[in-house]
This record gives sequence, structure tokens and C-alpha cells, in this order.
Amino acid sequence: MPEDNILELGRHSLAHVLAKAVTELFDNVKLAIGPAIENGFYYDFDLPHTITETDFAAIEAKMTEILKRREAYTRKELSKADALALFKGNAYKEELIEALPEDEILSVYYTGEDFADLCRGPHVENAQFLLPWAFKISSVAGAYWRGDENRPMLQRVYAWAFPSKQELKAFVAAWEEALKRDHNKLGRSLELFTTAEVIGQGLPILLPKGAMIVRTLQRFVEDTEERRGYQQTMTSSFAKRELYKISGHWDHYRDGMFLMGDPAQFEEPAAEVFALRPMTCPFQFQAYLNKTRSYRDLPLRYNETSTLFRNEASGEMHGLIRLRQFTLSEGHIACRPDQLEEEFAGSLDLAKYMLKAVGLFEDVRFRFSKWDPNNREKYIGDAAMWESIQDTMRDILDSLGVEYTEEEGEAAFYGPKLDIQIRNVFGKEDTLITIQIDFQLADRFGMMYTDADGQRKYPYVIHRSSIGCYERTLALLIEKYAGKFPLWLSPLQVGIVPVQEENHAAYADEIAAKLQAAGLRVRVDHGGGTMGNKVKTFRQELAPYIVIVGDQERDSGTISVRVRTGKQINGIAPEAFIAACDTMLKENALELIEEF
Ligand SMILES: [Zn+2]
Ligand SMILES: [Zn+2]
Repeated sequence: MPEDNILELGRHSLAHVLAKAVTELFDNVKLAIGPAIENGFYYDFDLPHTITETDFAAIEAKMTEILKRREAYTRKELSKADALALFKGNAYKEELIEALPEDEILSVYYTGEDFADLCRGPHVENAQFLLPWAFKISSVAGAYWRGDENRPMLQRVYAWAFPSKQELKAFVAAWEEALKRDHNKLGRSLELFTTAEVIGQGLPILLPKGAMIVRTLQRFVEDTEERRGYQQTMTSSFAKRELYKISGHWDHYRDGMFLMGDPAQFEEPAAEVFALRPMTCPFQFQAYLNKTRSYRDLPLRYNETSTLFRNEASGEMHGLIRLRQFTLSEGHIACRPDQLEEEFAGSLDLAKYMLKAVGLFEDVRFRFSKWDPNNREKYIGDAAMWESIQDTMRDILDSLGVEYTEEEGEAAFYGPKLDIQIRNVFGKEDTLITIQIDFQLADRFGMMYTDADGQRKYPYVIHRSSIGCYERTLALLIEKYAGKFPLWLSPLQVGIVPVQEENHAAYADEIAAKLQAAGLRVRVDHGGGTMGNKVKTFRQELAPYIVIVGDQERDSGTISVRVRTGKQINGIAPEAFIAACDTMLKENALELIEEF
């Protein structure tokens, strides 16, 4: 049996043991569902007692006790009516059973004589096979029945489970390290961002240091794109419903949009209904439509640092990763068919360049996201067009030597995508950058060009981002570097400490002025603390360099530099330090120079 299946089998079998343990420990427990998941399993319960961390040890002990009973997992088949009788009073199981066809033969699994759960299986044959396993209840959280916020809230108990104690131990150690890097904690303690309940979920506030990192990234992206032939547009954040009707967003993406005004008017044809933009495409298309285009005008590359609004479900919000408002460099390239491969290659090269500059390139994978032919109402256009454009895109990816996986059902509603996927510190995967080929929206918007043969034709449109949304990128960078950003991205690059305020403040300011003139972000600590305390404060702030100046430095016109790695070098000429910083900034260096 493949290893994945063994993991799933053991984890799911343990979910039954968890359910049995909770049933034995507490009164009036109603069981919902309990699947295996990555790294473990969970079970959803409805019970009067509120399960908290203080219950975990008792539940774990009860689970071990149950395993030691060495009970068999026995499958019994029964009719729908018998199953309903067996689970009478449990509305969750009743609902699951009712949903099945009338003549369906159901299976229940008994663990011992006294505990049965509705399940398809498979499971281990006997609980004793799970005795060498190691498990640990990790958390408990509210979860709506069937993920529907209008249904009852259940208590979901999560556990980690591995086939051996060593594997669990290694996993927990890695998890604890991840917790230290979690952007949602570290980003707040480093004062990069905060949230306010009164503003709302998924709407973080970037504090000056976080905003500084994002601004640095934005400038880098905009400058790079300009050098690569992009023209920047500035378009509005909302538009009339009619625009989204043309683009298809109104019919295919409305649940994801924030509509403005009185809901009673939303379907009223005469009303003026506005919606915040979930994407920039329909807006930039209007720039294309501003004048008649000829084949000589193509490729036309537009970019925009664009703030977008998407109505994510409230359960989906997480720090800077899942947001209701975010900003990204959105670009659209209109090109002729003979330019498609080169423009696609250019977009991919730009994304790779950005990923390398911020140090995330090693962490990504490429996903070729295709439509789902069995779910056609999600997409516009016919099957033949989809298959043909997907073949074209596969040819381009292959000719560019991209290593990718193909996944159905992940395409945009108007075309297939190359998604650049990245995992956060807890292993959860998200799309960071996407490059899409669109063969349909130009038609919908009437975007055309006059070809060399005098014919009016539709261009291909490439939709692309180049670094992903800035907030998500910031989150990934916090976790990647545990807050120890490369010099070019550090909000504070050099902290300056005068050894004694009265004797060295003037020299410290003189050095600060030189560094600032060279484009560095510096701050002198003129506070009343000791030198040791000032150094400690800058260290806690994770400043890449701390410059210390006392008698010796002032008298010789030098500085002492403490690198974030811990190394200290004395008697450096300020110009040598500035030259080293300059090199790092120009090259977007990921490592700090330690020799001057
Ligand atoms: Zn089961
Ligand atoms: Zn687009």
C-alpha cells in the first residue's frame, strides 16, 4: 500500500477512536464527520460541554485506553431505514443518510461492540495496529455544519497523527518553529501591520514599517515593468454594473464582488448600480479601446498598481494572506497570435526575476490550471475553444521548459492560467503569481486591431501579475526571513548608537546624514538609555546593521558596525560601509555583507 494511503487509513481510523473517546467522556455527544487531513485528522462534535485545551490530556488518555482494548473495526451493512433507526436523534447523521438514494446499502463501522459510526471505510482491521502510532490533539475550533454559516456551529477537534513517535516529534518541532515565523504574529510584534475590529475582517492596516516594505516593492516592480516596455494606467476602483456584464463578472463572479447601494435595485435595469472592482482587466480594456489599433501597435503592455476588492467568506480571512482588499501590479498585454509565445515568455521571465529578487524563487511550483469540462456553467466559451487554447498554452510551457502539474477546474472563467504556487510556513498553498491566456474578452469588449492584410482582428490578451499581491508577498517574506529581511527590503536599514549622548551625538548625526544622503534608511537613538540598551532595541527590531560611535570612532573618523548576524567590525571608513550597502541595494542582495 502506498505511504499516503497508510497515513490516511491510520489517521481516519484514529478519528473514530477520538469520536469514541469523546462519546465516553462527555454526555449527549452527537457525532458529525471526521476525515483524515494533512498531518492528522479532525472530528466535528455537537455536545453541551465546551471542549477546551484543558480537556486535551484526558481525551488523549482515553484514546490510548481505547486503543489498548485492541478492538476490531467491524463493517456492517444495513439498509437506509435501519441506518436511520441506528442514528435516530442525531440530526447530522440523519441528514447524511437522507441524502443517499433509497436503495443504497450503507455501511457502519463498529469499534468494539458499543460504538458505531456511519462510514464507507476503509480502516485498520484492529485498533492494536494503531498502538505504535503517535497522536496529539492540536486545537479545537468552531466549524459550521457543512461549512454553512446558517447551520449549527460544531466543535471541531484537530489532532496530528503519525505512524511513529519520532515522526510526530519532528513534526511538532517544525510546527513550533513555524509558529515563531507566523506572519500573523511576527508581523504584528514587529509593528508591520495591525488589524482593527471596527474596520473589519480581511482589511489589515499596514503600519509605517510594513508600508515601507510594500512601497519599496512597488517602486521596484513599477520601475522594472517600465524598463520592460509597460505603460502604466490609473483607472477607477469601481464601475457601473454594465461593465461587469460585458466582462462576465456580473454573471460568473458576482458572489465575489462588493456591490454598492440598495440591493433592491441590483436587478432593476434602469437603476445605476456600482460595484467595486475585483479585477483590473475591464478597466484597462477601456484604455485599449481609446483609439483604433493597428498590428504595429501590438504588443501593447499595460500595468497598474491596482487595489482590488473581493468578498471572501469571513472564515477564510487570515492575517495578510486572505483579504477583502489587496493591491497588486496587474498587467494586461494585447498581442497578435504570432507574438503570444514571446509575450507569455516575457511575462514568465518577469515573474521569475521578481521571485529571485525577493528570494522566493526556490519555494514555488508551477501549476497549469485548466477548465473543468464537467462544470461548464463556471466558464464562458465553448469546449473546442478551451481545448485549443489549452493545447497552445501547453505547447508554450513545454517550449519554455517549465516544469508544471496540470490541474482541472482551476482556470479563470475566461481562460487557462499558469499559476505560480507557494506554501506558507504552515504548509498551506496559495497562488502568488498568475499568467493567463485569454481568447474571449477581446471579443466581448470589441477590442480589435487592423492587421497587415487590412482585416480587423481580435488580439489575444495575457492577464498577468508580476509579484503577486503586495500584502500576501509581505506575509511570505516575513515568514521566509523570520523578519530578518534583506537590506533592500528592511524598513530600518541602519540603527545608529552614540556611546554617550553628550559626547557622541553630533558625530552620530553626521554619520546618519552621510548614510541618508546615500539613500539608506537610518535612525539615531538619541534616547536616555545605556549603549547596551540601545543596541538591544535595534537588535529586537532586526536592523541589518547597527553603527556604534564613541570617542575612538569620532577621533579617527571611523565607525564600528555590528552586523545582524552578530559579527562586529571596528574602525571602518564610513565610505567603505556606504559602498558595500550601495552594492547590496543595487543588486537586491539577499545576504548581508560582513566585510568592509
Ligand atoms: Zn471511518
Ligand atoms: Zn485581468
